[in-house]
Amino acid sequence: MTLLKREEWQQFVRDVDWAPSYVDEEAIYPEWHCGTGKVPREAWAKWEESYKVTYPEYVVGQREKEASAYAVKAALQRSDNFDNLDEGWKSATKMHFGGVALVESAAILGELKMARFGLNGAWRNMAAFGALDELRHSQVTTFFGHEFIAKDPQYDWTQKTFHTNNWVPIAARMLFDSIMISPNVVDMAIELPFTFETGFTNLQFIALSADALESGDVNFANMISSIQTDEARHSQQGGPTLEILVEHDPVRAQWVIDKSFWGSARLFSALTGPAMDYYTPLEHRRQSYREFMEEWIVDQFIRTIEDYGLKKPWYWDEFMNGLDTWHHGLHMGLWYWRPTLWWRPKAGVSKDERAWLTEKYPTWEKLYGDKWDVMIDNVNADNVEATLPETLPWLCSNCNLPCSIVTQSRSGIWRARDWELEYDGRKYHFCTNACRQIFWKDRDTVNHETLIDRFLAGQIQPMDVAGILGYMGLTPEVMGDDPDYEAWTRDYVGRPVSGLVTPTGVTAR
Ligand code: MN
Ligand code: MN
Repeated sequence: MTLLKREEWQQFVRDVDWAPSYVDEEAIYPEWHCGTGKVPREAWAKWEESYKVTYPEYVVGQREKEASAYAVKAALQRSDNFDNLDEGWKSATKMHFGGVALVESAAILGELKMARFGLNGAWRNMAAFGALDELRHSQVTTFFGHEFIAKDPQYDWTQKTFHTNNWVPIAARMLFDSIMISPNVVDMAIELPFTFETGFTNLQFIALSADALESGDVNFANMISSIQTDEARHSQQGGPTLEILVEHDPVRAQWVIDKSFWGSARLFSALTGPAMDYYTPLEHRRQSYREFMEEWIVDQFIRTIEDYGLKKPWYWDEFMNGLDTWHHGLHMGLWYWRPTLWWRPKAGVSKDERAWLTEKYPTWEKLYGDKWDVMIDNVNADNVEATLPETLPWLCSNCNLPCSIVTQSRSGIWRARDWELEYDGRKYHFCTNACRQIFWKDRDTVNHETLIDRFLAGQIQPMDVAGILGYMGLTPEVMGDDPDYEAWTRDYVGRPVSGLVTPTGVTAR
């Protein structure tokens, strides 16, 4: 028997479809999963991916990627590479392992849903490869993180994070449930492959991989670039889906993009922002977070959505202004509430680091400098106790991140903004105006209760810091602390003390 050549068989296997005769179409493809909405059923026949792959090619390619990732890992296991990594960089990787390993696992479910309910055979095929991809990502990330547990128990959170009610995974679940688990497949293809995988995984996987190489972490760089090659392929599901939706329902297309872009931008400012601008050692930083965002997200994203005939999201000015503030406020919050983290957040505000921050962010010193001075003076006065939290911050009812965006009036009044909304007999708090608007428009869908909601409802007992840490799954050996207080305070020893401030928030005592 002779085998057909690829070009002889591929065009009729890649989009195999059936006309069912024993059951209704609606029984196989229910609207609430398929989400065709205003798009006529036959319009999906036009769906076509630009880069086509067959199963034999897929298997050969994936095998090579796996072999090379594991070969590098095995070689480095016998070296002292890990022991020589900077603590700040290790924190960036712990945050990644814990924040990403099980999200890859959730992505398997998202891909499988598109593989089952996509209204075109070629799309379902592409999604089946996507599910296999995400299975590999979940495995490789969990396995690579696992190797280091014996050296540092914080790496145990690679697998543990999403099984806890820590506030960071609650915020991450809020986003990923909304783009990978709950949507119909049309919305999902636009939220996950189009918005998240085309834009934001680039940031985490390409930009962070560059910082990893600079920091000497070849193993990590290799792992995430291997993953990114898959993301680049299966993220193609977004474009053809968006093209069809825009033709029939541009308003829905715009809303779905706007909402998922915002949620992704908020979460990345908490995770990638501090990793790039504070944890990565100064001499290894290639660009600031803002510069990476402008190059990889802002320019590309706007060009892409305009190509599809869509507009900049309505909140664009608020988003662009946020590139100078969101992640700095979140970094300060992460550092201050460091016992709630599974990594060791480095403050990163020595004189040299501050000069770099000021060069990249001209308002940095004015907005954050004197707050860090208080921390510095307390550390130098042997009063680290005063830099530890006794209260909880307000968490945003939409993104679940702390309301930590600061503004300063001309007269010098500094405050963390909180946008409020009275609805259904209670008051909600939001970090930004757009989070408030998105919550309002989506108010009938499920929202996770913030950690503060749970605290105030008495779900967390005892109602003190110890009770909160216990609820979040933190145990003493993994609780985050600054890896090296002296590194960022020694420049300031002996200067006049700036005085003490006490942050305000929800009292936990
Ligand atoms: Mn993935
Ligand atoms: Mn993916």
